Formats: sequence, C-alpha cells, structure tokens
Amino acid sequence: MSNILDGRKISKEIKNELAEEIKNFAKKPRLVVVSVGEDPASKIYVGMKEKSALKVGMDFGHLAFSEDTDEEEIIKSIECLNEDNNVNGIIIQLPLPKHFHEQKLLNTVLETKDVDGLSECNMGRLFNGKPNFIPCTPFGVITLLNRYNINIKGKTVTIIGRSKLVGKPLATLFLKENATVTICHSKTDDLKKHTQDADIVVVATGKPNLLNGDMVKEGVIVIDVGINRVDNKIVGDVNFDEVSKKASFITPVPGGVGPLTVAMLLHNTVEAYKKIQEI
Ligand code: NAD
Repeated sequence: MSNILDGRKISKEIKNELAEEIKNFAKKPRLVVVSVGEDPASKIYVGMKEKSALKVGMDFGHLAFSEDTDEEEIIKSIECLNEDNNVNGIIIQLPLPKHFHEQKLLNTVLETKDVDGLSECNMGRLFNGKPNFIPCTPFGVITLLNRYNINIKGKTVTIIGRSKLVGKPLATLFLKENATVTICHSKTDDLKKHTQDADIVVVATGKPNLLNGDMVKEGVIVIDVGINRVDNKIVGDVNFDEVSKKASFITPVPGGVGPLTVAMLLHNTVEAYKKIQEI
C-alpha cells in the first residue's frame, strides 16, 4: 500500500509560513480575482481562494462580470487593477465563457502582478528559465514532491496532458529538476508504453480512471491532478484503488494537488508584494 502525499497538510504548512511572514509586512498583500459568468465550479474555487487568502492575513477582492459583459470593459477593469498600487496579485478565473479571448485577457494582466503566471510573457520567461511567477498547479506538484523529500533528479517522468495550465509548464519544471520527461496527450498511440516504466506519473486530463494498475510499475510515484465530478463525488483521473496497491507514493483526490494550487497562489502573491517593496 502506498504512502499518501497529503496536499492538505503541506498546504496548511505553507499557509502557516505565509501568515507568519505577512504579520511583519507594513500592509496586507492584496489579491484580486476577475471572474466572468456563472460557472458553478469556478464559484467554489473563488470561494476557496478568498477563504485561504483572508486566513493568511491578505486582502481579497473579487470582480465578477456577467457573461454578456463587453470584453473591452473587462480589459479596462484589469488595466485599472494593473495601475492600482494597492493590488499585488491579479488572476483571471478560468475557464472563461467560450466567446472571450482567454489569452488576450491573461496577457492584459501586468507581468509583475500575474500571480497565475499564465500570460504569454510569463510563460515565455518560464520556458527560458527565468519565470516571474510559476503557474500555481505545476508549482504545487513540484512543491509537494520537494516537501516530501522525493528525489526528482535523474528520474523518468511521464506527464499525461499537455495543457498550458498544467502539462506544458510542469514538463519545464521537471526538466529544471533534471528529470527526463515524456509528455502524452489525447493523440498518444499507446499510453501504457509511456507509463509502465516511468518513475513518476502525473495525470492531468479530466478523464476519470485513465490510469489503471496495469499501466504502472511497482514503486511508482503518482500525482493525480484531475478533478472530476462523478455521481456527485469528486474523483481524479487515476484509478486510486488499483494504482495505490503498486505506488510508493500517491496523491488522493480530493486533498492532493488542489490544496497546493491555492497555497502556491498565495505564495506568488506574497512574492509579488515583496517585489514591489524592493523597487
Ligand atoms: P485541458 O482540457 O486543457 O487538457 C487536458 C489534456 O489531457 C489535453 O492535453 C489532452 O490532450 C489530454 N487528454 C485528454 N484525454 C486524454 C486521453 N484519453 N489520453 C491522454 N491524454 C488525454 O485540461 P487542464 O486544464 O489541463 O486540466 C486537466 C485536469 O486537471 C482537469 O480535470 C482539471 O479539472 C484538473 N485541474 C486541477 C487543478 C488542481 O488544482 N488540482 C488545476 C487545474 C486543472
């Protein structure tokens, strides 16, 4: 039976550290979430971000636009946040309704306030090895492994999922840690061929039970990024019952990567605050 990589515990540790740091700041770092539309999951995520931000001693703002708002109006609001010296971090809650230009809105966020790290500018910097901010979910995955003292250097890592939110930036982070990385996706011919010998497998697809016990080796480390609602229950992308019998370490869903994502967002906001003080 595997060891559980307890995201809730590590997230709590990080948040306690941030709260201690914030106590010594001249003023509270301020994080603002911009959301558009009525996506129910997004509402829950924004609520979780608000609760955690307030708990560590930050200020939190939420600009909620209806789905029929003109894109230019949202861009102007983001530009106002960019200019507001009281705002340290800005995030655009994803997904946006289909008719919005997601990357255009992400690119409007000022580089030094882009605490989700998803603007093209920040992505470019990440791939060039000098990120302003590391995107929160991939950052959470690496942080979880580091906090459990799991050695990444020299390991073979297979990531299933190539999104700009998770798979692509995560591959870059694993490369930086000197792992050997394979990225799989929906057009990969034989997934098992790429997972069965991997030391670490990360699954980020949004497909429940994509990774089964016969696809991994004994002792594998498995990180399940997926969040899916099945029969009113939250499950990941990994067949936990099967894979946990072979894995040395595995993340649960819920309680794995999700809490780390929020913790890293707060971490990035504190970093954004500190950068302004240095200027
Ligand atoms: P996405 O839809 O943008 O990307 C999904 C990726 O999975 C794509 O690259 C696609 O090629 C790949 N894929 C889909 N079906 C596949 C298959 N059968 N075999 C191999 N690859 C396949 O999604 P995303 O934004 O990267 O999110 C992925 C999952 O992670 C979702 O469940 C999402 O809810 C979850 N997520 C969780 C967190 C967190 O904090 N835990 C954060 C972001 C996303």
